[in-house]
Amino acid sequence: MENILKPARYINSEWNAAHKEWDSAALKVALVFPDIYEIGMSHLGTKILYGILNREKGVVCERVFAPWLDMEKKLRAEGKKLSSLESSRELKDFDIVGFSLQHEMNYADALNALELGGLALYSKERGDNGPIVIAGGPCAFNPEPLADFIDAFVIGEAEESILEIVNAVKDRGSKSDILKKLAEIDGVYVPDLSGSRLGLRVQPQCPLEQYSSSGHESASQEQSREDENASLHGHCKIKKRVVKDLDKSFFPTDIIVPYIQIVHDRIGIEIMRGCPHACKFCQARKIFHPIRIRSVKRIMEIAEESVKSTGYEEISLLSLSSGDYPHIEELAGKLEERFKPMGVKISLPSLRTGTFEEHEGMATLRRAGLTFAPEAGSERLRHSLNKKISDAEIIEKSRTALKSGWRKVKLYFMIGLPGETPEDLDAIARLAGQIKNANLSVSPFIPKPRSDFEREGMDGLETLKEKQRRLFSAFKSHPSAKNIRTDFHSAEMARVEAVLARGDRSVGGAILKAQANGARLQAWTENFNYTLWDKAFQETGIDPEKYLKKKEDAEILPWGFIE
Ligand code: SF4
Repeated sequence: MENILKPARYINSEWNAAHKEWDSAALKVALVFPDIYEIGMSHLGTKILYGILNREKGVVCERVFAPWLDMEKKLRAEGKKLSSLESSRELKDFDIVGFSLQHEMNYADALNALELGGLALYSKERGDNGPIVIAGGPCAFNPEPLADFIDAFVIGEAEESILEIVNAVKDRGSKSDILKKLAEIDGVYVPDLSGSRLGLRVQPQCPLEQYSSSGHESASQEQSREDENASLHGHCKIKKRVVKDLDKSFFPTDIIVPYIQIVHDRIGIEIMRGCPHACKFCQARKIFHPIRIRSVKRIMEIAEESVKSTGYEEISLLSLSSGDYPHIEELAGKLEERFKPMGVKISLPSLRTGTFEEHEGMATLRRAGLTFAPEAGSERLRHSLNKKISDAEIIEKSRTALKSGWRKVKLYFMIGLPGETPEDLDAIARLAGQIKNANLSVSPFIPKPRSDFEREGMDGLETLKEKQRRLFSAFKSHPSAKNIRTDFHSAEMARVEAVLARGDRSVGGAILKAQANGARLQAWTENFNYTLWDKAFQETGIDPEKYLKKKEDAEILPWGFIE
């Protein structure tokens, strides 16, 4: 490990890591997080699946993370393979290799993990003896860009389907037999068999396959596009799996405690899944719909067991919009009463502006940064997004938060939103100027699959940059806004992310090309290389505009078959 940055990313044997008997296990699963240890170890979904699988008799589940650049160089130089943390096994030794796809900018890292692990990248090139490669997570809601590489996608909440998947793979047999069994499971999409499980004949009879295999529609397809659309929406659906009752679903309390600091280095308890709001740009709301509440009683039990088994001194209450949790005061009060004497802090990272109140109970929550997401500068634009918060509310709640001890307020905005005018950009500077100690984050709007804006177009690169410049000058010319710290998210990265998010199967070729040309850990600003992606798109005949332009109502969406 000489000259390797943060060797603790790779050394294994952390507190609570599962080390099960390898040889006697009937099924071995590698959970691969295609980003580095500190990010993957903070991901709740991975902790849930690790816990469920390792509690099963006869199942071994181990973790694999993407190596940082230095470690990859070392592995390649020494001819070594990417392997699991717990028992240093190569990916080929597992029966299932399961990817968590949280961010499109990790797609090249998923392919790189397969390559570094010694597996063939294309699904059709992996035969009967290798692992079945599965992927899930929010990005699986448009599986097509990775459909040539992944054998099966898990759509929706994997804790519902994971044991059914284990059973389908456990008895092995040929790869095609396993895929057939997987295709029978609700919420599982097997690209090779997409027609058969839906009662249609295998490709090319399924209209989805006709679209997906080429990424382009033929003249005759175009002619009957509307019929096909109806067929897709009528019969060719894969329905996401949903946990019905959070209180009854598994929640890990003996999470692994790392040796190095990770992004969310604390106990994270999910108090609610789903969101009661309906912001039109929001993908998460649809993916995690409907709303489910974990009871105060169950949260207290989880907190108790988690503190005991980890020794962490901080509990974070997680959900898309924690202020909307209906029993927040009761919960905060009970947590304070039980854990304050033990020196355990409670934090609540995700609050909407509209739900932030200085409730008595909430006074106990940790006074770190508070994040509000007005998204748009003007009330007019905000209302058109279904974000019904007035300027006055944002200003008042931010000031209240700062007065009552929160150290800073971070405000999230987007530029390039549908219906945006130049005045809406100026309004961002005006609004932020009225809040002292605000930090701003400004990101380009990406019309993501499953959001209400999924058919909207995305601004071109030059337009976005012009908007960033206008906003920058608006800050400089506004007396109280000129010292505000603003992070502008890269327009180039947003453009690549949008192509990957909205892509069809032919975009997979560009991802593969980018990976082959050295795209690594592209979600990291310091590693992101736009030229490399631009070249990959050009070399594989991908025109980003095709994916970024507005989509007509009759146009078939690559992800239209996922419900
Ligand atoms: S943006 Fe936040 S508040 Fe709005 S729907 Fe999405 S999760 Fe809910």
